[in-house]
Amino acid sequence: MNCLEERIARDGVVKEGNVLKVDSFLNHQMDINLFDQMGAEFKKRFEGKNINKILTIEASGIGIACVVARHFNVPVVFAKKAKSINIDGDVYIAEVESFTHKRKNQVIVSKSFLTSDDHVLIIDDFLANGCALQGLISIVNQAGGTVEGIGIAIEKGFQMGGQMIRNLGYQLESLAIVEGMDPATGEVKFREQ
Ligand code: 5GP
Repeated sequence: MNCLEERIARDGVVKEGNVLKVDSFLNHQMDINLFDQMGAEFKKRFEGKNINKILTIEASGIGIACVVARHFNVPVVFAKKAKSINIDGDVYIAEVESFTHKRKNQVIVSKSFLTSDDHVLIIDDFLANGCALQGLISIVNQAGGTVEGIGIAIEKGFQMGGQMIRNLGYQLESLAIVEGMDPATGEVKFREQ
């Protein structure tokens, strides 16, 4: 078991509806030492990739992305949730359905901060159905940039996102892959990596 898996087993809370709560260390209160270890692991897994930018999505991806970025020594851009009324022509737009809130949001990135010169590592906290990742990939494609890889903290391997993204040919690295979880017992099973 790696340190993220150990932490999930200890402090994660399994909720009904395939939701894993990790807000004591990942996406509300944040354990920066754990993020730092995750950053080092992503640096190893994407060794040799020419990455000059990290892209994530508001809000819970931002903290992780910033600590990971220290290991790559590159800036972080985050896709912002936008009210359509504020959108002008200087942004890339993607539609993302939130897994936890079941709401559709338009997310935007300014054209100033992502261009065809960019070699992007996409980072997010969770991968479930892959909607957030599809939105971020679409934004990099709109910019004419290159997705060099995708780094996820927790993939829920029993949902379809991981397989879909790997089938598209992207290097997807998830530090913990949950194979199953039981809200009655709180037990979380991980895929061997
Ligand atoms: P997807 O777009 O892959 O369906 O879902 C990914 C997004 O939904 C992540 O950015 C994350 O914020 C949220 N999410 C999905 N599953 C979970 C979960 O089990 N727990 C929490 N806390 N967030 C989740």
